Amino acid sequence: MNHLRAWVPALLPLSILLAWKLLGASGASLLPPLWGTLVLLSLWIGWHRQEALRFRAWFREKKTRIPPLSSGIWEETFAEGYHWRRHQEQRQHTLNQQIMQLRDALQALPDALLLMDDEGRLLWMNPAAVSLLHLHWPEDLGKPLSFWLRMPQMQEFLAGAGPSSMAMEFADRPNAAFEVLRYPLGSAGALVLFRDVTRLRQLEQVRQDFVANVSHELRSPLTVIRGFLENLLDSPLAQDAEVGPQLRLMEEQGQRMQSLVEDLLSLARVESAEPDPQRCENIFVAQLVERARESLMATILDKELALHLELDLGLAVFAEPLDISGIVQNLLENAVKYCPRGRDIFIAWGEEEGSLVLRVRDTGEGIPEEHLQRITERFYRVDKGRSRRIGGTGLGLSIVRHSAERYGGRLQVRSVVGQGSEFVVFLPAELARRGNSWQD
Ligand code: ADP
Repeated sequence: MNHLRAWVPALLPLSILLAWKLLGASGASLLPPLWGTLVLLSLWIGWHRQEALRFRAWFREKKTRIPPLSSGIWEETFAEGYHWRRHQEQRQHTLNQQIMQLRDALQALPDALLLMDDEGRLLWMNPAAVSLLHLHWPEDLGKPLSFWLRMPQMQEFLAGAGPSSMAMEFADRPNAAFEVLRYPLGSAGALVLFRDVTRLRQLEQVRQDFVANVSHELRSPLTVIRGFLENLLDSPLAQDAEVGPQLRLMEEQGQRMQSLVEDLLSLARVESAEPDPQRCENIFVAQLVERARESLMATILDKELALHLELDLGLAVFAEPLDISGIVQNLLENAVKYCPRGRDIFIAWGEEEGSLVLRVRDTGEGIPEEHLQRITERFYRVDKGRSRRIGGTGLGLSIVRHSAERYGGRLQVRSVVGQGSEFVVFLPAELARRGNSWQD
């Protein structure tokens, strides 16, 4: 309908011409009405062009102004243009406000926040970042962030290599601990966040100290109780039909408790601090494997297990003895404990692709996939009842993992149900020491 209306002024002169012709004025000349039509058309086109130019000039104005008076179709066009612009301005205003609120919130954040482009140049930072890294706003915008964070591992971290978070300390804040996290934003660069984790670390320390202290306090009374129990078990009372079994049960539970206390103390030790170079020495892992094998010999023979050893006898690791013996003892103990009768256990120690590697593989029942992620957590057991029954504390793998991580190493667990499990400890090659075999 609107399209038709638009053509009315153009068709009107043509209709007059047609009427002129039809009304029988055939003898009369067509020239006057033709001229009249042309004049009318020119006026019509000229008016439209003028209104179009007025509309463009008005629309190009930055701010909304009340549209100029017009008529006909141009009055409607101006009104619609006016409403569209009002709507756009309101949207823009709301968006601006939201951006400001977001910026204010980020500014108020106690964590230091930086935005960098895909080449690592600073795009934006909040006041906490300015103060933490001693930056200057806005002069430092556009400069590479690695200029302020020069440690090699930090350069890798900022480049997107390696893990997405790392611990960090600042020389001018000696008592504070920071964690830095990188969130990639696709091709837009990345968000880098420095979080003060001092309080968290303190709480963690309090927890570790508490567990270590309680375990330590329990150690002495337990030793005394077990000592007296041993005396009683050696006495004629142990032969008593009623008291004898009770004494043996007490001894069994006492031993479990002592294992738990010892494991808690080991865990507290490996979790607490970096290895002490004064306490480190060259440890021949083959020797530890041999010792662990001897201590487990009774069970190995009883279960008719076959141990296959492939050990580099002359390869030692420079570490604290307790850490490495904890790793070896726990892994071997588990292999022997969880392997059914008559199966094979393979133990290998050597250098592999720039790491020191200890592999303990059994051909036992294996661990279901869903447990593998959590298997190294404290007190995590696949089968609680079974583990307790065979004397497990649920801390062994946790000790192994923390001992390896203490040196920058790691524990890898692979398992297939029905086929067996493999526990692999990787330690950094810098800890490797060559010497005469411990057997020489
Ligand atoms: P635990 O003292 O109970 O053995 P660990 O931390 O050493 O505690 O092991 C955690 C759990 O992992 C165990 O309870 C057991 O379910 C599982 N596990 C450990 N080693 C093996 C293995 N070689 N084969 C099968 N399951 C294992």
